[in-house]
Amino acid sequence: EQLRLSTISDLPASTIDGVQVKLLANIGFNLEIKSANIRHAEGIGLYRTEFEYMDRSTWPTEEQLYETYRSMIERLQGRPFVIRTLDIGADKRLPYFDLPDEDNPSLGLRAIRFSLAYPEIFRTQLRAIVRASLHGPIKVMYPFIASVEEVREANRLLDEVRTQLAAQLGREIPPLKTGIMVEIPAAGTIIDLLADEVEFFSIGTNDLVQYILAADRMNTRVSPVYDPYHPAVIRVFRQIAEAAQQAGKTVSVCGELAGVPDYLPVWLGLGITRLSMAPPAILTVKKRVRSLSADRCRELVRDLFTCKTSEEIKAKIAEFNRLIE
Ligand code: PEP
Ligand code: MG
Repeated sequence: EQLRLSTISDLPASTIDGVQVKLLANIGFNLEIKSANIRHAEGIGLYRTEFEYMDRSTWPTEEQLYETYRSMIERLQGRPFVIRTLDIGADKRLPYFDLPDEDNPSLGLRAIRFSLAYPEIFRTQLRAIVRASLHGPIKVMYPFIASVEEVREANRLLDEVRTQLAAQLGREIPPLKTGIMVEIPAAGTIIDLLADEVEFFSIGTNDLVQYILAADRMNTRVSPVYDPYHPAVIRVFRQIAEAAQQAGKTVSVCGELAGVPDYLPVWLGLGITRLSMAPPAILTVKKRVRSLSADRCRELVRDLFTCKTSEEIKAKIAEFNRLIE
């Protein structure tokens, strides 16, 4: 299997009816950028920066973060690089920072909420990102956005940091493109409003499914409820895709579902052609892309909206996948 996959590594990720699909990598540690699988990716679609913070005994300094981001950007040689700002809280703790206990940590002060509550910590990361952006293209992505106000505040801090740095360095620093993770249902329903603030959206299916269905993504006792084929989930995905496309903004997917080959017809059927996934999945997904017709995927998705249950949806997708194998 590995051999057959390697033969397609140099072929384009395009469907049989000519739709180009961008396949990007999710990474958690800067060193992963050196792994062999990365070369199959068109770039990094999600860099989970919190792991660099979790793997230390004290806060990283601006200089350390800058060095990390700069070395990554140099290795990417102009390929896309999406840095997600700190997504700490919930299950992701820092050994050197005592976060207060919360009754419902996954509904608590995590991700962008944490960054906005501790602006000095956020500014340090933003300064490192802005400095690194002088060495290559970086897009900044905010996790766990629920409102327009949060995006505005994050963008305001980013802009403030950039202006200060430009003055200090005595040179222009072009604005960075920003985007948000769509992983809270509220964000999914106000894409048109958020579109005025950002350049792109990325659907974080891991959390989005959890919050749509109120089922903990890590709790095996409710894993049957955590169901990516639930009609509500597919409806929310469609709503996001359509609203983003209408606003003329890029929409990608960066949750685990982006790398599930059987789910691919749903993404292509919704017009989503930018997928960021765990690096080992890239070639398998590319192989599947090359066997699909985007037109047929669109028909499939139309058909899915006649289904009332997850069972029916799953069966229709499975049949579709069987036919193309
Ligand atoms: C997601 O929620 O889908 C996501 C990509 O972020 P994480 O898995 O890091 O929460
Ligand atoms: Mg998430």
